[in-house]
Amino acid sequence: MKLQNKFIELRNKRQGLLATNFYNFETLEGVLLAAKSNNQPLILQLTRSSINYLGLPVAFNLAKSMLDYHGVEGWIHLDHGDSYELAAQCLDIGFDSVMIDASEQPFKENIALTSKVVKLAESYGANVEAELGYIAKLGQDKEGSGFTQPEEAKQFVEATGVNALAVAIGTAHGFYDKEPKLDLERLSEISKATDAILVLHGGSGISGESLKQAIDRGICKINLATEIKNIFMQTLKTTLSTNKEIDLRKVFPTATNQIVELVKGKLEIVRNTK
Ligand SMILES: [Zn+2]
Repeated sequence: MKLQNKFIELRNKRQGLLATNFYNFETLEGVLLAAKSNNQPLILQLTRSSINYLGLPVAFNLAKSMLDYHGVEGWIHLDHGDSYELAAQCLDIGFDSVMIDASEQPFKENIALTSKVVKLAESYGANVEAELGYIAKLGQDKEGSGFTQPEEAKQFVEATGVNALAVAIGTAHGFYDKEPKLDLERLSEISKATDAILVLHGGSGISGESLKQAIDRGICKINLATEIKNIFMQTLKTTLSTNKEIDLRKVFPTATNQIVELVKGKLEIVRNTK
């Protein structure tokens, strides 16, 4: 099934689709084993830095072949694409979906670049996600303001024809000092103003209850990256501090298994059963 149709199907049931970032074989294996165990679909995301790290064909084909191997329903997505060229490369190799993030540019420039990517993606039948508003990136000020305005969201989606929109309603990338309070009223208004699939970035560290409330009010895609990286590295550090094992095939699975448990829990949340 096309991702665009899956979004609609899930949104009608007030359910969300989890989008997990992966960085190597082990993190990919972890998220896929969780999806398989829960029998739930998921989106596999790559940022520019992960693409640079793995190599675009390697990253794409690894994800593709592991989806097939594990029999998981999933889609491959470019997370925070920062240029038309990168989006084009990803579409050309077969990504199901790309994000073009021009959220730090003025409204008009964001519309212009997003429209260009939407036009290109049409010929591939691919999904396009854009971002409107300020969602602090790693290292940026979390207190920075710039929540998504419902009226602007409506204008933006109409002008660009974009399928999915990342909204700024109080989340940020990375970990939080304390869990932020999501602006759920605003989310409801955005959801009323536009038919686009709404996306929550910065899902790490948001409680299950808050995530469910966000899904109830129209969020359909929930991104998870920081918690995956963190649990993998923390587990490795702990394991290695008391272990002289040099067979990496005996070391990595302990960290991979922690990702499986983490992602199973998140998948259970986005299923949003009361
Ligand atoms: Zn993000």
